[in-house]
Amino acid sequence: MTNSRQPEGRGGPAGRVARIRWAGFDVDGVMTDGGIWLAADGTEAKRFHSRDGHALKLLVRSGLGVAVITGRRSRVVELRAAELGIGIGSVHQAAHDKLAVYERILAEEGLSPEETAFAGDDMVDLPIMVRAGLAMAPADAAPEVLARAHFVSRSKAGHGAVREMVEFLLRGQGRWDALIGGYAAGPGPA
Ligand SMILES: [Mg+2]
Repeated sequence: MTNSRQPEGRGGPAGRVARIRWAGFDVDGVMTDGGIWLAADGTEAKRFHSRDGHALKLLVRSGLGVAVITGRRSRVVELRAAELGIGIGSVHQAAHDKLAVYERILAEEGLSPEETAFAGDDMVDLPIMVRAGLAMAPADAAPEVLARAHFVSRSKAGHGAVREMVEFLLRGQGRWDALIGGYAAGPGPA
């Protein structure tokens, strides 16, 4: 039975995963629930999910390239990326033309589109998503985005969606069990 949340368009997602060497993530509405706490002094606050964060740390540790591309700019995104081990050179903020940023990364890192995955939730992410080898979206992404995603998480954005995306990628590459192996090494339940 086909899982309706994992559309098989453009050749099916599973076969695409093996080639992925780089994964990019939008921030608002993917790594967060899309809400933006804007204070009168102009500072922003965002709510991230700890399980998403742990998964992104594993993704960095796996050796894949990991980047964030966001149209907004805020200090909290820098702080969050640093916590996760995503280098400042891979944090692309105020990216008003996300596709241009993506194309520059491909050129600089010698990547083909088929070797990249991108997670987005809204129209501005579509130019990258239709280029990338693997397009991922949270369950509550815009309908136009859901329609073009190869993988759609069951969780909503900011509530574990990124965790599912990372697990889908690393499981598909046969690396998830090894990366989490250390956690399960202790004695099992009594
Ligand atoms: Mg977004």
